[in-house]
Amino acid sequence: MAARLSLIIICFFSLSIVNLTADAAHSHQHQKTNQKIDYSSQSAFKAYPNTHNLKPYYGLLHAHTGLSDGKGTPEEAYKMAKDNGLDFFAVTDHVERLWVSKKKWKVLKNAAAIESLDGRFVALHGFEWGGTPSWKGWYNHMNFIGTEKVISPLKGLRRLYKAIIKTEGIFVGQFNHPGMKKFKPPLSQNQWNDFKYNAAADKKIQLIRVGTGYERHSSHNEFVGYIPALDKGWHLGPQSSEDNHQKDWGQGHRRTGVWTTDLTTSSIMKGLRSMATFYTDDSNASVKLIANKKWLMGSTITKKGQIQLDVEVLDTDIKDHVITVELVSYKGQVVERSNSGSNNYHVSFKVNPSKDTYYFVRVLQPDGDRLISAPIFINRPN
Ligand SMILES: [Zn+2]
Ligand SMILES: [Zn+2]
Repeated sequence: MAARLSLIIICFFSLSIVNLTADAAHSHQHQKTNQKIDYSSQSAFKAYPNTHNLKPYYGLLHAHTGLSDGKGTPEEAYKMAKDNGLDFFAVTDHVERLWVSKKKWKVLKNAAAIESLDGRFVALHGFEWGGTPSWKGWYNHMNFIGTEKVISPLKGLRRLYKAIIKTEGIFVGQFNHPGMKKFKPPLSQNQWNDFKYNAAADKKIQLIRVGTGYERHSSHNEFVGYIPALDKGWHLGPQSSEDNHQKDWGQGHRRTGVWTTDLTTSSIMKGLRSMATFYTDDSNASVKLIANKKWLMGSTITKKGQIQLDVEVLDTDIKDHVITVELVSYKGQVVERSNSGSNNYHVSFKVNPSKDTYYFVRVLQPDGDRLISAPIFINRPN
C-alpha cells in the first residue's frame, strides 16, 4: 500500500501538474451544472434477453502482479485463480507502470491469451487508472478490462472519460473500491466527483465494486458507492474483486457472478458489458432478476404500467438457505421483502413506479452471506 501510494505521489509530481490546473479550471466552470437523472436519454442501453441457456460464471476483476506493485507474474495469477475454481479472472496492473513500459502491457496481453481456454477458463487483461489529483482530492481508481491499448495516466477524470469515450472495441469499465479510505488528510479522496453523471462515459463503464474478495476485509464497506452511483443515473452492475498485491489470487470465497451462455472470452465480456452481474459472498450461490419474464438484470425497460420482477435464488449447498430477499430501489429504499427457508427460492414482485427508477435485489443468508444483483432500470416513456 505504501509502495503504491509513493508510486502515485511520484506520478503526481513528475507527470500531472498540467492536469491539476486543467481540472481545477474545469471544475470551476461547471460547478453549477445540474445533475439531472434522465434514464430516457439512455436508448443505447439495450435490454439483455433472459434465455434458458444462461449459466452463472464466477470470477474476480481486479488484481496486481509484479508488472506493477504486486507479486509474481500474470501467468502465476491466472493459473492460481483457475486452480482455485474461478471461471474468469482479470489482471489489472497500474497504468503508470504499463504506460512507461509498453513491453509490460504486451506481456500481460500475451499471458491472458495463452492462459485462456474456451470452456475452461477466461483470462482477462486490463489496467488500473488512478491517483491523479484534483482540488477535491485524489481521484479514486478505475479499471478498464479488454482494451487494445493502455490509456495515458496523464489525465484527470474529465479527460479520462473523454479518452475512454473515444476508445473503440470491446472493453469493460469499472469504479474500483469506493469504500477504500486509503488517503489520509490532507490527501482526501475524490469519489469520481461524487459520481457526477456523464452520459457518454456511462455507456463505457458497466461495473462498480460492492464487496472485496478477501474474507479478512469487510465487504460491507465497499457497498457505499452502489446506491449513490445509481441514484446519480449511472447504469452499473455490482462486482467483487480482491485487488491482490500478494500471490493469493482467488483464495477467498467471494465472487463476481455473471450470467452468460458459455465460458469464452466473448461470452464473459458480453455478460459483463450487459451488466448481467451479481456479487456473492458464497462461491456457489447465484441470484437472477428478470423483468416481465423476458429481460435480465442490467437491462433498461422502456414501458408504461405494471412491471413484474421475478427473482431466482439458488445455492447448490442444500443447507445454505435464503433468509430474506429484499427489493431495493432509489435512495436504497427497500420496497419489498420476502422470507424463505429454502436454498432454491423463487419470488415475484409487481412494481409500478411513477418515475424512472431502478430495482435490484439483496439476498441475505442465515450465515450472514449476502448476494446483490444488478438492477433492472425502468424508463417511463412520456
Ligand atoms: Zn486501486
Ligand atoms: Zn488495484
